Amino acid sequence: MKILGIETTCDETGIALIEFKETKFRILSHKLRSQIKVHSKYGGIVPILAAREHKKNLPILFDSLIREIKIDFKKDIDYFAFSYGPGLPPALVEGKEFVVSLAKKYEKKIIPVNHLIAHFYSVLISKNKIGVWQKIKEIPLPALGLLVSGGHTILAFIEDFRKIKKLGETLDDAIGESLDKGARILGLDYPGGPKLEKLAKKGRPLFNLPHPLINQKNFNFSFAGLKTAFWELVEEIRKYNKLDELKQDLAYSYQKTAFETVIIKTKKAFEKYRPKSIIVTGGVIANQFLRKMFVKVFGTKVYFPVKNLSTDNGINIAFSGYFLLDKAVEYSNLDIDPLADI
Ligand code: AMP
Ligand code: MG
Repeated sequence: MKILGIETTCDETGIALIEFKETKFRILSHKLRSQIKVHSKYGGIVPILAAREHKKNLPILFDSLIREIKIDFKKDIDYFAFSYGPGLPPALVEGKEFVVSLAKKYEKKIIPVNHLIAHFYSVLISKNKIGVWQKIKEIPLPALGLLVSGGHTILAFIEDFRKIKKLGETLDDAIGESLDKGARILGLDYPGGPKLEKLAKKGRPLFNLPHPLINQKNFNFSFAGLKTAFWELVEEIRKYNKLDELKQDLAYSYQKTAFETVIIKTKKAFEKYRPKSIIVTGGVIANQFLRKMFVKVFGTKVYFPVKNLSTDNGINIAFSGYFLLDKAVEYSNLDIDPLADI
């Protein structure tokens, strides 16, 4: 069985074709184009520009994929999978129009894939090498799932991958967003998360910042107060002309506080729900400091997606589609849901 997956929820245009045989799969081709350069000068993602880029890039990536694999789409492809949300409405609309045009042309059904759930499914992929047959990874369940990205901070209980219950989420900024804003306070470009990590490498934990909501019994997060406290601290230091001297320490302290907040909450959920494993995904887990913190606290129980699959891509969508075949719809019944939840 072959599934073509399409991702356009935010600022990455992704297309991937995966072949499945029972518990094995191989990625036949995948294409990804990031829009970071387009948005960076605005300090964040501009939805209408994201849509324009998806519209431009989808046919380019698709043409490049079919030239590479040379298969008869009508005969050889079984389904299209499409991430219907959550995401930016104009970006989702472009993806939908594109997948609908393909489904019409090749007379296939479309599997609507929830973007959040696709992030959790992605940990079942053991490598993302093109053309290599691999076994679908097995992870002990139930698991605790944590999604840390630019748009989400969600803790969930994964009884099985089709039965995911949200335990808590951020009440204001997502963790990635808070890192990007903190980085901006220090004068770093968007997306600031990776730049903050680089700066923090030579920093020291000199400053105490608040850990919002850690004493509450629920599993919600909040990062807006941390950002405000950081802004006040940076302004104070600026007054004394010490900003350049202390920048690395500020980056270290901010990043560390945000990550400690996440670890403390996850640990509490772990103690309450006693899962067999913990799955951590989303763009922020590219951060080596955070990864190490998770491994230190949870040891071998923690699972991350393989390289490049923690951020948005078409592979995650095509792969998830295989587990959701019963949800396939005719193209005329496909809808986007910008506010889709778990
Ligand atoms: P996503 O929303 O999954 O596409 O991930 C993008 C978010 O991850 C942005 O907020 C980035 O700043 C953040 N991010 C990416 N790489 C890193 C990193 N190495 N350290 C911290 N945050 C990162
Ligand atoms: Mg992204």
